[in-house]
Amino acid sequence: MRGYFVAGNWKMNGSHSANAALIDGIRKGLDRCRDVDIAVCPPAAYLESVGAAIRGSPIALGGQNVCDQDKPGAFTGEIHGSMLADVGCKFAIVGHSERRALYGEDDQRVARKFKAAQASGLVPILCVGETLEQRESDQTEAVLKRQLDAVLDLCGIASFTRAVIAYEPVWAIGTGRTASPQQAQEAHAFLRSMLADRDARIAAPTRILYGGSVKGDNAKELFACADVDGGLIGGASLKAEEFLTICAAAQAQIK
Ligand code: PEP
Repeated sequence: MRGYFVAGNWKMNGSHSANAALIDGIRKGLDRCRDVDIAVCPPAAYLESVGAAIRGSPIALGGQNVCDQDKPGAFTGEIHGSMLADVGCKFAIVGHSERRALYGEDDQRVARKFKAAQASGLVPILCVGETLEQRESDQTEAVLKRQLDAVLDLCGIASFTRAVIAYEPVWAIGTGRTASPQQAQEAHAFLRSMLADRDARIAAPTRILYGGSVKGDNAKELFACADVDGGLIGGASLKAEEFLTICAAAQAQIK
């Protein structure tokens, strides 16, 4: 029922020439992952040029961040959701742990960003996840609940018919340390049960991605988990072959 989805979060990486080579490489291998939904989220400065490079392909475009304001205006340095939509974005990442930790985005701001993204017709990719300290002190579910409840309380369960969740344990992002399939499945099942508590018919088709040091050689076992519907990929999305191997691992799960 839920199709696989693999999104590349390029973070603050790239250049015109590197992006062109990366998209060219991904496009050349798309027949390995025909039934997988794929998106790339380049830095804002390159959205338009990457949008042009993916034109005519099934690859979708996403922003890495979006402003929480209702309307455009005097908010220097911010990008309104309508502008992301205007340059061809379908998705916007909200609540990435780097934004939460380095730029002070709290649960309420993330929830407002989620709402603002949807108001502009974008599909938010809502990132949630616990730190190592929180996991080791048995707070994983409490943290996930707090992060997801903030969005559910502001936007309602119906908003998840047009959203994607990414479970990204902070200790696994960019560290080379991946959650085990069991850890990922437990967290994903917990998140889905939270949605189901509000509406089981919305919980079932909602896609929940795993993110955190996914590579070509561990994607298969993660994507085999019942509640893992793909991945949000950071470092490995910057290499065409590695990204395609991850997308192909999703394709291999499709019966
Ligand atoms: C991310 O930034 O969302 C991410 C998962 O990064 P990495 O794959 O590099 O751990």
